[in-house]
Amino acid sequence: MSDGTFYQGPSGIHLASFPPKERWNDWVEIESKAWPRREEHRYSLVPTTCFNCESACGLLAYIDKDTGEIRKFEGNPEHPGSRGRNCAKGPATLNQVKDVDRIPFPLKRAGERGEGKWVQVGWDEALDDIASRIRRAIVEERENEIMYHVGRPGEDGYTERVMGAWGIDGHNSHTNICSSAARAGYAFWMGIDRPSPDHANADVIFLISSHLEAGHYFNPHAQRIIEAKAAGAKIIVFDIRLSNTATHADYWVAPQPGSEAAILLAIARNLVESGRYNREFVRRWWNWDEYLASERPDLPRTFENFEKAFLELYASFTFEYAAQEANVAVDQLRTIADVVAGAGTRFSSHNWRSAAAGHLGGWQVSRTLFLLNALLGAVATEGGVYPNAWNKFVPKPIHATPHPKHWNNVTWPEQYPLAYHEMSFLLPHLLREQNAKLDVYFTRVYNPVWTNPDGMSWIEMFKEAGRIGLHVALTPTWSETAYFADYILPMGHGPERHDIHSYETHDAQWLGFRQPVLRTAREREGEKITDTRDANPGQVWEENEFWIEMSWRIDPDGKLGIRKYFESKKNPGEKLKLDEYYGFIFENSVPGLPDRAAAEGLTPLAFMRKYGAFEVASNIGALHEIPVPQSELDDVAVSEYGRVYTRADKPAPENIVPLPSPDDDADGRRPVGVQVDGQILRGWPTPSGKLEFYSSTLATWGWREYATPQYIKSHVHPENLKPGQMVLNPIFRLPTQVHTRSANAKWLDELAHVNPLWIHPVDAERLGGMRTGDLVRITTEIGYFVLKAWVTEGIRPGVVACSHHMGRWKPGEIGQRQMAATVDLKNDKSRWSMRRKSGVAPFKSDDPDTQRIWWTDVGVHQNLTFGVQPDPISGMHCWHQAVTVERAQPGDTYGSVFVDTEKSREVFARWQAMTRSASRYSPNATRRPWWFLRPLRPSRDEYKLPV
Ligand code: SF4
Repeated sequence: MSDGTFYQGPSGIHLASFPPKERWNDWVEIESKAWPRREEHRYSLVPTTCFNCESACGLLAYIDKDTGEIRKFEGNPEHPGSRGRNCAKGPATLNQVKDVDRIPFPLKRAGERGEGKWVQVGWDEALDDIASRIRRAIVEERENEIMYHVGRPGEDGYTERVMGAWGIDGHNSHTNICSSAARAGYAFWMGIDRPSPDHANADVIFLISSHLEAGHYFNPHAQRIIEAKAAGAKIIVFDIRLSNTATHADYWVAPQPGSEAAILLAIARNLVESGRYNREFVRRWWNWDEYLASERPDLPRTFENFEKAFLELYASFTFEYAAQEANVAVDQLRTIADVVAGAGTRFSSHNWRSAAAGHLGGWQVSRTLFLLNALLGAVATEGGVYPNAWNKFVPKPIHATPHPKHWNNVTWPEQYPLAYHEMSFLLPHLLREQNAKLDVYFTRVYNPVWTNPDGMSWIEMFKEAGRIGLHVALTPTWSETAYFADYILPMGHGPERHDIHSYETHDAQWLGFRQPVLRTAREREGEKITDTRDANPGQVWEENEFWIEMSWRIDPDGKLGIRKYFESKKNPGEKLKLDEYYGFIFENSVPGLPDRAAAEGLTPLAFMRKYGAFEVASNIGALHEIPVPQSELDDVAVSEYGRVYTRADKPAPENIVPLPSPDDDADGRRPVGVQVDGQILRGWPTPSGKLEFYSSTLATWGWREYATPQYIKSHVHPENLKPGQMVLNPIFRLPTQVHTRSANAKWLDELAHVNPLWIHPVDAERLGGMRTGDLVRITTEIGYFVLKAWVTEGIRPGVVACSHHMGRWKPGEIGQRQMAATVDLKNDKSRWSMRRKSGVAPFKSDDPDTQRIWWTDVGVHQNLTFGVQPDPISGMHCWHQAVTVERAQPGDTYGSVFVDTEKSREVFARWQAMTRSASRYSPNATRRPWWFLRPLRPSRDEYKLPV
């Protein structure tokens, strides 16, 4: 509608939903609590970005102009990704800001590590202590003893550049307990590790994920999926639970966990066999000729022969076979194949965690799902799936930092050359195996003791003398990991910090700006604030200013070459301020932003402070089809399969086409495009330049059997289960919780605070007539936990499930009180037991709501009882567990956990034995394929294996 009824910004929602942006500096609302009295409040509305999941939706903080207090958060209608909408966790940011149990001051350990004794310290003392240790480690060339381990990054590369400036290979992430498997599957195809489905324009949406309640880019994707559904799109969902996503499906399949790839291959085979696929797209864009040359040298290299070879390769993947593996009706699979075939290029699909994260070989789930897109030609099409790099925008920073001249074998061990991210969850095992130590270890919004599998091994690591010199927890809230820190440094929640980010929510590129809203509101009123601590509650800081200050203290005179990366460009020798840092980026690295800002009489920084987001481009289209300009094509060389290289000294094109490049090859040439039907096109950042049905990388790094999309039988495949064992899915998300920090949001806790065991009535009956509420013991390979049953038909028989959000605990009285049970943690050599002393209860505080806490149960911590199960290729922890389910035994109490870490070491050794190490299998004496994505990539020399 063009009559102004609808908001004239990205949201396009009815005007009444949002205050008009012209009045954001002085917005008036009537106080609802004062009714029937008319009490007006004047607000400054300041945009920022939600930090409660990876979606980075826009928020609008309502700051009372009289009290300077944040009253609420609503959606930011100017944000192109979220378009003014949020899930429950967005507005609940207010709870986190006002949480009475948050950590307002820096704390230092007073007793033994883990003893729970703390003293308040000043920032200066903490900074000097930590900086001096880091400086000493760098000067003494112990760079690999410094590690920064991030849970929720919420930003695009800031801290990686800090590590780069320090010259250390010290970045560690949570990705291998989250998305490495799915990423690997996509990366083997596209050279880009995330999909960007254009759900809104799809005719068929295929989800092996739970996007309508919790998936990756949950709210931005969910609203677009619902739009498509309203327009008639069909939704296919694979989920062993009748989840909120499954309830919205037109076709819901609950397959045997781990059988997904078998089904997808059967559909793929059917599409080719029946001729219902995009033959021209496959001929042009798959590296089928390389496949034939490598795997079928008996056949002449024609496309017709490839079609024949494809059907031979997947001959065994009939619907009957897939139905048998999945234990579902064969007709259901046939129907779904017909629906998929009918989508044409309007076929969007997504797998992120879910089955990919659950299984040995889970990376083949995303790979075989994308195979369907690749067959239909639904790649970079309207309603299809884009590579994420085309649908996000990463601006250049003010200072580019160098590639570290180190390789950290603890995070990137030789055994996992194809691991898609750091082997983060193996840290306790790898430190022990390599007899390595960390002098300074930062955990940042990361709670591995609770979030990771095998948390007791983490506690052992923290308690072992000499293994971790100094543990610094950068966190806004108490966590199970923070209890084992030496310093706890209070970092800001989403509305208390700066970050920029951009995510693939649809076919566009946008840049979001997270900002400390109280600081911005006060600056609007004319105050000058240069340190976010001056505006945040207590002494809560933000990491960006913290890292600048820390870096100056590590290198006060600049002689280590670090300080220069944290200096002002305008005033060399002075400390960089964040206004300059972000102002520089917005002025120089974001096309269109300076003009758009100028049109409103604003600087680019002022524009971003006012609106919080900017759409850089939309309708990106098929970048792989763009011809490479002649100017880039002098002195080219063309490979046997059409990859086009140019001189390495020729500069890469400016950021006009955000296409990651696999970089120069070993001969010093840079791939620039690929020949397709006689034209040189931009292509894909893979070794071949095409979509790689055949991965020469997998073939040459020791995994030739998986060089094409395949079905790998999971570690919880029925053949691998012992008699009586069931499959436990421990990783489903709830819509109203994230990991650690949402426990500090009272509205969310009231909505969801328990994680009972989903069990089908058939299984409940088989197990002795189990009823909802009965105590159940779940035994894993390394221990057991005790929880309550929830008997429901909403789960596949033979499988049980338990949400991973709950079961927060604290070993003493200090800490989180509304969602963490108080426990007794005991240890005898490798045997650990945890018993619940008390649940939660009402308590007095400045917030009257804490006296209204009506729940006592906060769920059970299951991850402690999982051994580490690293996939030998992707490196992903394979979350699903083979378990024994039985009634609780005498003496078992709710929430009890028992673990033997000796057994967890055996599990680690068994899974590690499946790997094929770089030292044995690398085709070129390097640690990892050079073209593979790697956060904080070291210099090329560091890729060489030690001689
Ligand atoms: S989906 Fe919800 S939690 Fe995630 S960023 Fe958006 S509002 Fe926040």
